[in-house]
Amino acid sequence: MPNMTEKKYPMPSQSPDERRENFREVALGYDAETAVSEAQRCLQCRNHPCVSGCPVHIDIPAFIHRTAEGDFAAAYEVLHAASALPAVCGRVCPQESQCEGKCVRGIRGESVGIGRLERFVADWHLARGDEAADQPVPNGHSVAVVGSGPSGLTCAGELARAGCQVTIFEALHLAGGVLVYGIPEFRLPKEIVRREIQGLQAMGVKVETNVIIGRTITIDELFDEYGFEAVFIGSGAGLPRFMGIPGENLKGVYSANEFLTRINLMKAYEPNADTPVIPSAKVAVVGGGNVAMDAARCARRLGAEVTVVYRRTRAELPARQEEVEHAMEEGIRFCFLTNPLEIRGNDQGWVEAMLCQRMELGEPDASGRRRPVPVENSEEVLEADSVIMALGTSPNPLIKNTTEGLETQKWGGIVVDETTGRTSREHVYAGGDAVTGAATVILAMGAGKTAAQAILADLKAT
Ligand code: FAD
Ligand code: SF4
Ligand code: SF4
Repeated sequence: MPNMTEKKYPMPSQSPDERRENFREVALGYDAETAVSEAQRCLQCRNHPCVSGCPVHIDIPAFIHRTAEGDFAAAYEVLHAASALPAVCGRVCPQESQCEGKCVRGIRGESVGIGRLERFVADWHLARGDEAADQPVPNGHSVAVVGSGPSGLTCAGELARAGCQVTIFEALHLAGGVLVYGIPEFRLPKEIVRREIQGLQAMGVKVETNVIIGRTITIDELFDEYGFEAVFIGSGAGLPRFMGIPGENLKGVYSANEFLTRINLMKAYEPNADTPVIPSAKVAVVGGGNVAMDAARCARRLGAEVTVVYRRTRAELPARQEEVEHAMEEGIRFCFLTNPLEIRGNDQGWVEAMLCQRMELGEPDASGRRRPVPVENSEEVLEADSVIMALGTSPNPLIKNTTEGLETQKWGGIVVDETTGRTSREHVYAGGDAVTGAATVILAMGAGKTAAQAILADLKAT
């Protein structure tokens, strides 16, 4: 008999008062007993709608069934067969709009906590730490992967498992892409990403950091001088957008990417960090997505009073509901229906305030959301000594500009055949945010897997 408890078993978490003072993980994870009870809420539906909501098609009922039986090793095997990064996805997937959004238990109550169970099983596996890495039989092929985010890591893992010699080239000094430089430690501990990458290295994947493809080495050189037979581009969408308003060049204005990179990758929260963040008392974060929430919550942990400025209402916030609630619990203030007009500075060129305008919602735009329109004579000044712009990102044009015959969209996304990841350039494949623009970890992983399958098929055919 399934457990018919209507609500998910709650996730143990640090209290808001405690967590706004530290960068440790907020959610603490289920223990074995709670995981078994939560797994018993699954109805083992014959048509398992949840699986259609998972971009990598994990056999969700099977892994939950094993968990309910307490056979966590078998549950992990089911996860591992479909996903290279279950400990990551169990934490950061937008489950409510993916697998859990399709779960029938959600019709009258709360869906099964699929993400929480995935996290539990993956952590249980990592804690054992006794796994011998697969040692694939070499197939004689060598492939270069550009970028070490989830798309590149997944592509590299699939290719290595099939016996290819794979080298990942990463521009930064640490591998992991947004998983290490963007998503903060309190949502995704870096140790987990490091362990997943170690697993790939143990299978023979080489990781070359501090190499910028398009500058240090071009794509042509990867083929002609290094002898790679195929190249996968998973270079993400790391180029920040700004509003184009006066004052964006003042000292104390950051893109969210820069701010988060300083904190996550350069450990700016440590007193002697080489790449610090200038201490701020009042921080304004412009935007309403997950990146804005991450930046706001980091700034709060550095001791600032933080205001999120968003031009629509709470109902339109694109960030995950859970992240918004966490931010509010941590004392972050939200100014809805507010749009910045100008950032004002002092005589030394430092930010001291932001001039904003009140907005109201008008007719729906092409996306179906009601368009914000300015309210006349409604300017107001918001005091701030730092401003963080979290307005979205696009792919960096460097690779496009240095690679002959690589077709891109107007906004910079690389054009690919969706079912294979093949680009307009022979033997070059692409996936993840570099193709779609800013999206999600699991979609990037799905694209890395699709491209790896096409690369293997094409290598076999040559
Ligand atoms: P990335 O993760 O961006 O990795 C690309 C890598 O390529 C980077 O390491 C970059 O340094 C490297 N690179 C770029 N150019 C070059 C070059 N020329 N040569 C060599 N290397 C290069 N998604 C979720 O699902 N859940 C979340 O909670 C979530 N939160 C997010 C929070 C933040 C702050 C951000 C920024 C994004 C978040 N996302 C989230 C989105 C998700 O992280 C991305 O969609 C995903 O990481 C994309 O993976 P990717 O492999 O395409 O690229
Ligand atoms: Fe759900 Fe993401 Fe896990 Fe798929 S990978 S089952 S979408 S949490
Ligand atoms: Fe279990 Fe929900 Fe999937 Fe049904 S839809 S199999 S209840 S997780």
